[in-house]
Amino acid sequence: MPQLIVTEKIDGNPVAWRCSDCSQSFSARGKLTTKQRNDKVNAEFKAHIEENHKSESPRPMAFAAAVPLPRD
Ligand SMILES: [Zn+2]
Repeated sequence: MPQLIVTEKIDGNPVAWRCSDCSQSFSARGKLTTKQRNDKVNAEFKAHIEENHKSESPRPMAFAAAVPLPRD
């Protein structure tokens, strides 16, 4: 499951994050409370997962990656 990773803080408060799976960035700057920031980013991240990471395990690529590639 992808997670939000804090990438930037201002005065100790996170204002920018990225997706642990695909490095998509999210930010919640401006005059918002910490809760408003979290709500905004969590909502955006949830939508992002729905759109980009909906199919969790088993991943087709994981199966393909398990097959050794011939090396020349
Ligand atoms: Zn992502």
